[in-house]
Amino acid sequence: IYQNGHVARFPSFNSGGKIPLGLKRKGLRIVVTGGAGFVGSHLVDRLMGRGDSVIVVDNFFTGRKENVMHHFGNPRFELIRHDVVEPLLLEVDQIYHLACPASPVHYKHNPVKTIISFTPIQFRTLNMLGLAKRVGARFLLTSTSEVYGDPLQHPQVETYWGNVNPIGVRSCYDEGKRTAETLTMDYHRGAGVEVRIARIFNTYGPRMCIDDGRVVSNFVAQALRKEPLTVYGDGKQTRSFQFVSDLVEGLMRLMEGEHVGPFNLGNPGEFTMLELAQVVQETIDPNAKIEFRPNTEDDPHKRKPDISKAKELLGWEPKVPLRKGLPMMVTDFSQRIFGDHKERGS
Ligand code: NAD
Ligand code: UDP
Ligand code: UDP
Repeated sequence: IYQNGHVARFPSFNSGGKIPLGLKRKGLRIVVTGGAGFVGSHLVDRLMGRGDSVIVVDNFFTGRKENVMHHFGNPRFELIRHDVVEPLLLEVDQIYHLACPASPVHYKHNPVKTIISFTPIQFRTLNMLGLAKRVGARFLLTSTSEVYGDPLQHPQVETYWGNVNPIGVRSCYDEGKRTAETLTMDYHRGAGVEVRIARIFNTYGPRMCIDDGRVVSNFVAQALRKEPLTVYGDGKQTRSFQFVSDLVEGLMRLMEGEHVGPFNLGNPGEFTMLELAQVVQETIDPNAKIEFRPNTEDDPHKRKPDISKAKELLGWEPKVPLRKGLPMMVTDFSQRIFGDHKERGS
């Protein structure tokens, strides 16, 4: 039954109501595409910890085996090297679809390939949606705050349709994710697939790629290496930074809940890049220098989630403020930068 497009057809906890309500919860079979990446690997830890069977599907474009290695040997864990552009046959209850290059440096690297062959987010989504349709699994798409583009509404509410430049350098990602949302909703409406859509705002934490070019990883790695923090533009643009454990909690609540979404999942604490640089200085090195660089094209001026909907319908809100989360990331980064040089730059 659809209620304002927000309620899935099978509101039972288990996909398709395969396990009757009231029975003791059995472990689920769950696919996490992109599960060897930053967010995916933390999600996998939570699902494994809960007793589910997890299949990670990853092509290791930006993901690393090291992120999930601690599960090797566990009979409930499987890792498949596979590019989700190719079809895949599996029997599962839930699909968390994260596979996608997420950092602007990565997705701009080869934008044509990004949109048409290597990461045609829409085609990849199609395979996983096809899989969900065939086996009756519940499908969760990790979309992005980038669907709002350079937003004219602040903070951004899910009902805002966004301001994306369709011919810009970021559009391979933005439009790809927007198309993925469209396809997800079309499979929901047309084929009755149970779907969930999360719009993720900037997330940071341990296991981020060290040299992925994103601002938090750049500043933290730069401060640790005693290099100047590179602030792009005038540094007055804003972002809202969410710690990864808060995101994972939100994704799981969304998957288990009854609402399709889309839901903004982000921390409403908003910072200019200069303020972020200051927090990094306070946390790592008060003497770290700041160096201004030209900004990238079409950089969104501000970004901050309105999370009223997730608060009300998922009972979710972030718990870890930037000043608490950043030190946990710094510990991980300094271990990887100074502890094991093989992993440097991975
Ligand atoms: P990440 O780069 O660490 O993880 C992405 C994973 O997907 C990697 O392990 C990579 O190897 C894998 N992958 C990429 N293309 C693939 C393909 N074709 N087939 C199989 N695997 C593939 O990035 P992340 O930050 O963990 O992002 C995870 C998801 O969350 C992405 O969909 C991203 O768009 C979304 N998201 C992240 C953020 C953020 O701030 N981290 C913000 C908004 C949205
Ligand atoms: N697909 C997949 N695994 C499955 C089922 C489907 O990878 O278990 C792929 C399939 O190869 C196709 C896509 O998902 O390319 C979409 O499937 P769907 O059934 O929606 O479309 P159709 O095959 O009817 O075009
Ligand atoms: N940025 C910066 N210095 C860096 C990397 C990024 O000032 O070393 C800025 C960038 O211009 C943008 C913001 O930080 O305004 C966030 O960039 P990021 O690539 O982390 O994420 P996104 O643009 O996707 O939100």
